[in-house]
Amino acid sequence: MSDRNTFLAAAEALLGSRGLTRDSDLMEPWLTDWRGRFTGAALAMASPASTAEVAGLVRLCGEHGVAIVPQGGNSGMCGGATPDDSGTAIILSLRRMNAIRSIDQAGLQAVCEAGVILQTLHEAVEPLGMRFPLTLGGKGSATIGGLISTNAGGTQVLRHGSMRAQVSGLEAVLADGSVFSALVPLKKDNRGFDLKQLLIGSEGTLGIVTAATLRLVPALADRAVLWAGVPSLRAARALLLHCQALAGDALEGFEVMPQNTLDDVVAHVPGARQPLAGRHEWHALIELVADRSNVDRLGSLAEDLLASAFEQGLLEDAVISSNEAQAEAFWLLRDEIAPAERAKGPAVQHDISVAVEKMPEFVEHAVPLVEAAWPGTEAVAFGHLGDGNVHFHVIAPPGVESLAWQAGDGKAISSQVYELVTQWGGSISAEHGIGQLKRADLARLGDPVALALMRSVKLALDPQGLLNPGKLVSLDKDAATP
Ligand SMILES: Cc1cc2nc3c(=O)[nH]c(=O)nc-3n(C[C@H](O)[C@H](O)[C@H](O)COP(=O)(O)OP(=O)(O)OC[C@H]3O[C@@H](n4cnc5c(N)ncnc54)[C@H](O)[C@@H]3O)c2cc1C
Repeated sequence: MSDRNTFLAAAEALLGSRGLTRDSDLMEPWLTDWRGRFTGAALAMASPASTAEVAGLVRLCGEHGVAIVPQGGNSGMCGGATPDDSGTAIILSLRRMNAIRSIDQAGLQAVCEAGVILQTLHEAVEPLGMRFPLTLGGKGSATIGGLISTNAGGTQVLRHGSMRAQVSGLEAVLADGSVFSALVPLKKDNRGFDLKQLLIGSEGTLGIVTAATLRLVPALADRAVLWAGVPSLRAARALLLHCQALAGDALEGFEVMPQNTLDDVVAHVPGARQPLAGRHEWHALIELVADRSNVDRLGSLAEDLLASAFEQGLLEDAVISSNEAQAEAFWLLRDEIAPAERAKGPAVQHDISVAVEKMPEFVEHAVPLVEAAWPGTEAVAFGHLGDGNVHFHVIAPPGVESLAWQAGDGKAISSQVYELVTQWGGSISAEHGIGQLKRADLARLGDPVALALMRSVKLALDPQGLLNPGKLVSLDKDAATP
C-alpha cells in the first residue's frame, strides 16, 4: 500500500465512512470559494464529528506529512478555505461539529462547536431573551470556527467589537494533535500570553478551532433606524461624533455611502426608493438600539439627536424609520450595494482601514487619484465609517472585458490602493483576512518585523507547515510571499 493509501485507510478507520469522502461530486462544491475566484483539488474531505476525531486526524496527518485545509461554511472572502491544485491536501470540514453545547442565561455565554452556523446561534438565543452581537451578510453559511479564524467584523463592530471581542473561551486542536482547552470564560486571567487571541484571526494556520465560548448580550427591545443626508464624508464623521456623544452605547451602527452608490442600488432593487427627497453627496445609515432598561427613551433620543444635529448644521436632511418594515428597507439599501455593483460590471474590491479620524481625508485623496490614473473607472467608498473601515471598490469603465480588465488594470489598481493605504498607516485587510488573495500584498507591504514575528509563531506552532499552507504566512523566510 502506498503511503497515501495507508493514510486514507487509517483516516477512514478513525472517522468512519461518513467522516471521510473522496467522492468528487461531494467534494466539488467545496473546492471553489463562493466568489469563484479560487479552485483547488483535494486528496479527500474529512468531516470529523468530535474534537477527539479532529485531534486523531491531525496527528495522522502529521505522521504522513499530509497538509490540512480547515473549512467552515466556505463564505470567506480571500480564498483561505480553498486548497491549492496539487490534490495532496485534505479539506478538514468542521460542518458536522454543529452542536451548541450549552447556553448560560445568567452568565450570558454560549459554548458552540466550530461548525455552528451564525444564523443558527442567533435563532437559538433569541427566544431566551438574548442575542449574539455580530452579524454579516454571510450569516446563513458562515460558521463560528470560520468567523473566529478570520476575526470577522460586520455592521455591529462599532458598539460590540469584532469576533475577537466576542470570544471568552476557546478549544482548538494544535498541529501535533494536542488539544488546547480554554473554554472557561474567565473575566480575569493573567497567566501569561492570551493564547486564544493568538489563534483568533490566524486563518487555520496555527490550529483548528473546535469550539468556543461566546459572549451574549440582552435581546433588543426596540431599535430606531435613521437616514441622514450630509454634504461630505467629513460632515458624516462630524455627525458620527455627535451621535457617539449623545447616544453612547445606544449607537450600534453607522454606515455611509455616496449618492452615486445609492442611485445604483435604487436602480437595481425592484421597489427600492431614495429615503430622502433631495440629493446629498453622502448618506449615513444610523442604528440606535435599546434593551428593556432604556426602551422608553429610544424615540426621544432619536428625535433629540436629529434636532440637535440640524441645529448645529451637521446634516442636510434626515428621517427616522416609522416602523420595522421601513427600518428593514433602509438596511436593504446598505446590504444591496455589492449585488448592485456586480450588476453594473467588473470591479476590484478592497477592504481597508485607516485611523478612524483620517478616513474622510483618505477617501477624498484616494478617489480622485485612482479615477485620474485609470480614466473611465468609478471609485466608491462605503461601509463602516465608525470603524475606520470602508470597502473601497473601483468599478471598471463601461464595456471592458471582465477577465482581461481584472488581470491588467484591476491588479494595478489594487496594488496602488494597498500602497496608498499603507502610506497612510492603515491596513490592507480590515475584516476579511489575507487568505491566498492578499498574501503577495502582505509580503510586499507588511512591516518586516511583524512578518518575522508571524513566521516565528508559525514555526513554533506548526513546524512541519501542514496547517493551511499557502495562506497568510509561510515558514520560508526567503519566499516571495510571507
Ligand atoms: C454575503 C456575504 C457577506 C459577508 N460580509 C462580511 C462582513 O461584513 N464582514 C466580514 O468580516 N466578513 C464578511 N463575509 C465573509 C465571511 O462570512 C467571513 O469571512 C466568515 O468569517 C467565514 O466563515 P466560514 O465558516 O465560511 O469560513 P471559511 O470561509 O470556510 O474559512 C475562512 C478561513 O477560516 C479558516 N477556518 C474555517 N474554519 C476553521 C476552523 N474551525 N478552525 C481553523 N480555521 C478555520 C479557513 O481555513 C479559512 O482560512 C461575508 C460573506 C458573505 C458570503
